[in-house]
Formats: sequence, structure tokens, C-alpha cells
Amino acid sequence: MSDTSLFRGFATRAIHHGYDPFEHQGALNPPVFLTSTYAFDSVATGAARFAGTAEGYIYSRVGNPTVTVLEKRLADLEEGEAGLATSSGMGALTAVLWTLLSAGDEVVADRTLYGCTFGLLEHHMPKFGVTTRFVDLTDVAALDAAIGPKTRVVITETPSNPNMRVIDIAAVAAVCRAAGVTFVVDNTYCTPYLQRPLTLGADVVVHSATKYLGGHGDLLAGAVVASKELVDRFRFVGIKELNGACISALDAFLVLRGLKTLTLRMDRHSDTAGRLARELEAHPAVARVYYPGLDSHPQKALAARQMRAMGGMIALELKGGLEAGRRFMDAVALATRAVSLGDAETLVQHPASMTHSTYAPEERAKHGFTDGLVRLSVGLEDHADIRDDLVRALDRAGR
Ligand SMILES: *Cc1c(COP(=O)(O)O)cnc(C)c1O
Repeated sequence: MSDTSLFRGFATRAIHHGYDPFEHQGALNPPVFLTSTYAFDSVATGAARFAGTAEGYIYSRVGNPTVTVLEKRLADLEEGEAGLATSSGMGALTAVLWTLLSAGDEVVADRTLYGCTFGLLEHHMPKFGVTTRFVDLTDVAALDAAIGPKTRVVITETPSNPNMRVIDIAAVAAVCRAAGVTFVVDNTYCTPYLQRPLTLGADVVVHSATKYLGGHGDLLAGAVVASKELVDRFRFVGIKELNGACISALDAFLVLRGLKTLTLRMDRHSDTAGRLARELEAHPAVARVYYPGLDSHPQKALAARQMRAMGGMIALELKGGLEAGRRFMDAVALATRAVSLGDAETLVQHPASMTHSTYAPEERAKHGFTDGLVRLSVGLEDHADIRDDLVRALDRAGR
């Protein structure tokens, strides 16, 4: 048996928690259990597993030993009771929302959300009788006013995609607690290394593990961490019966592999992004840089309080709006024009034509960003190489 009392620091737990090589012939890495179903040694065993009176696997849509390692590890890193791994971030979000909500219920959401989360809430949930009020969650009084007797869920990201507004998790959690509303935080941008919403009072953390947790752009995955009671409902109702968005054992293995270097990667992403944010702010083609580590960021102090470091995401508002944005996008050469984020490669994207194209132009304006905004996911390449590429592209964009 491994001595689990040795697993104290975050990096150590990200590498070891929830897996004991000596239970698996000494294999350093968890075996990948490529099986859809599990044999019962008797009818009584099968019956007991279905009744929940005996531990053990039944079918891989509700549990798989490789996936269990990932779920335990993520729960530990987020400091929650239980974890659930899913096939994608959207699989995690729908498992949570469809389980918690019924026709007639209301959601309060921050006014800037990941494009597909916005699309789900604004365009698709109404057909099931669930409506969403989008409010500025940096304004706790506005949140208080938006919560009504039918509100069941408050949901936010922080920093919020794409313009890096920071939501005060503890302040929003206090309002939700008083109102008896479940508070869901999408922690994709930060990962538990930079920010742990459950310790600040949130009820549920959701992830797109496709991004920093996996970290290599080679998989799709998602996760939920919450109380055991909630995670059981998300697993046995949300995943098992509502959306079927279970993760494959192989993808769970790859996320576990990514987690081994999570702390190193997040430190490097944060360090390079911080330097670039300051450098790009000084460029004449740039009207504004959105990055929570900058002195010009209105919530710098809050970000410093609730985040360990400021992460790898930067948004740039270019002088010259849409056209300058297009010129910049076409001029980058090292950076890759692509959606997604959190990979080793620096990625650039243009929300108005890509991730937030599900918003109408008025919706984009209302939700707080312009058509000239470009978003950078700062990669792990050498700082000077990324800087030179971006500066060259900005020189062209400004012409
Ligand atoms: C990518 C992303 C999602 C969706 O995750 P998928 O794994 O692509 O389904 C949700 N929220 C945020 C903040 C994201 O960046």
C-alpha cells in the first residue's frame, strides 16, 4: 500500500492521489479498463450492486475503474467530496443543469459565458420551460434583484470568457446560500491549481477538461465536483439517464497524464501571459488588454485574492475594430488560428466570428465585448518567440 499521508501538496496530489500502483501489479500508470460491462459472480452480487448495497462496477456509462481514479483525483484537487468525469465540458454542464432544473424553473447567469453554454441557456432551455436571466455578476446587488422564487441555479465563469471579467465567488456564494439557490462555477480557465471555488462557497464546479486539465489538445473531456449527494444525482440521473455523456477510459487516462504536469504548465502559462499582457498593452495598435494581472484591470485586487496566479488567457481590443482584428488574425505565423484553449501551442481566435458567433451582434455588445476583440490562449513556447510573432502581427494590424 502507498502511504497516502505523504500526498499533501497540490503538485504531489495531482500526480498521486487516488491511485495505488501496488493494487495494480506495480504499474506506475493506471491501467486503461477498456470494458463496457462487468461480470457478476452470482445473481446475488448483481442484485446487490444494482441495489447499491455492494460496491462494484455494473456498466461503464456509470463507472469504470480508470475513470474512478480521475474522479477521485479531481475531487481531491478541487477540495470537494466527490467527482464525476464526463465526455466533454458541455456533457458536464448538461448533466448538471438537466438534473437540477425542471420546467418552470429559472437560472441566473453571468452576462458573459462560453458560447455554447450561452446557446444552451438562451436558445435551447426555453423549449423545456427553463428561462435564464443574464446579469452582471460583478454587481452583487443586481444578482440579489435577479433571484426570484423560481430561481434554482446561478452559474458563472471567472475570469469570464472572453473579456476576463472577474466574479467574486465568495460574494456570489453568500447571496446564493441565503436564497437557497445552487451556485455553479465553470472553473475551466483556472483549474483547481489557480482557483478552488468550492472553498469559497460555491456548490458545484464544472470543467472542460479538454482545456488545461488535459493540456495537450488531444482529447475532449469534462468534469464535475460537488457534494457526494449532488454528484450521485448527476451520475445516476444526469449521465446515466439524461445525456449519456460518459468519458471513455482512454480519455480519462489521458487527462490523468495531463494532470501530472498541471502545476508546471499553469505556472508557465501564467508567467508568459503576464509578461505578454504588459508588453502588448504598450503596443500602439492595441486599445486595451484584458488580463487580471494588469494594473489597468479593474478587479486586479479581487483576482489576486481568489486566484493563485492569473492564468494563460488574454484578450486584446485592437484599435480599428473588426478589420484590424481580421488583419491581426491573418498575420500571426507562430500562433495558431484555432478555437479551444489551454494547449501547449499558442492559439488565437476571434470571438465575434468564432466562439461567440451564436450571439447576435446586439447580444455580443450587451454581453460586454466588441467585434474587434481577439483572444489569446498563451502556450508553452518560448516567451520571446510568442512576443515577436504577436508584435509583428500587431504591426500589420495597425497599418
Ligand atoms: C470549452 C469550454 C466549455 C465546453 O467544453 P467542451 O469540452 O468543449 O465541451 C465550457 N466552458 C468553458 C469555459 C470552456 O472554455
